[in-house]
Formats: sequence, C-alpha cells, structure tokens
Amino acid sequence: MQLDSLYQEVILDHYKRPEHKGLSEKSDVQVHHVNPNCGDEITLNLSLRDHLIDISWDGVGCSISMASASVMSSLLSGKTLEEAGPILDSFVSLMQSKGTQTGDEEVLEDALAFSGVSKYPARIKCALLGWMAFKDASVQIQGR
Ligand code: ZN
Repeated sequence: MQLDSLYQEVILDHYKRPEHKGLSEKSDVQVHHVNPNCGDEITLNLSLRDHLIDISWDGVGCSISMASASVMSSLLSGKTLEEAGPILDSFVSLMQSKGTQTGDEEVLEDALAFSGVSKYPARIKCALLGWMAFKDASVQIQGR
C-alpha cells in the first residue's frame, strides 16, 4: 500500500503514541466492535460532560485501525454530538469514495491522512472501525 509519506507519518505517529487510549473507569456507554477481516478490535467508552464528548478506548489491531481510532478520539473529544456528526459523516464519505474524494481538511484535520486508504477496499474497515464504534455509542447515548 502506497500512501503519501506525510500521511504515513501522521498514521505512524498516532499508532506509536495513541491519544485517549486506556479506558476510563466510568462511562455512560461502552461498545465493543471488531473487524474480523483483519482481526482489529476496539472497546470504546463514551461519556458526555456538560454536553461535551469524552472518549476513551482500548484495542488491538493493525496500524491503520489503531491510528484511526486515535485520530477519531482526538478530533471528536471536547465537541458536542451535534458538532461530531458532520465530521463522522465526512470521514465515512471519504472512506467510501474509492479514492475519488480528497476530503475537507478544515473538517477532517489529521483524519485526512487516511484518504489514501479509501483506494484499498480491504483496509477501509480498518480505518472505519473506531469511527463506527463512536457512531454506535453516540446513537446509544442519545437514546437515554
Ligand atoms: Zn486492520
């Protein structure tokens, strides 16, 4: 898989020094998602504090899945669910674009590093794992 070297660096950085990794003791919602194609697993804790998102997670898996979970958690933490929705949608649409979209840097920031992954169907689920876990948790938390 050939990715732009700057993007590779962002992914590697988040893989080596993941943000928000290590589950909080308490959470409003906890979800566990797996990507059986690759063997990636994530457990995600989601809480709302004064309407602001608080994410912590733990997991095992390939560098794409773990780095993407780290980027997702750093991007969405501290935002409201209303603010997180469009960012999530934008990332999902980028991943489903088969390399035809470049993505909006102002919305996606570091998550743009995964744009090249959309050309590799086998890896898209890796990149989406953490985001889908967040989506699941955010639906559950709103149902409370
Ligand atoms: Zn993977």
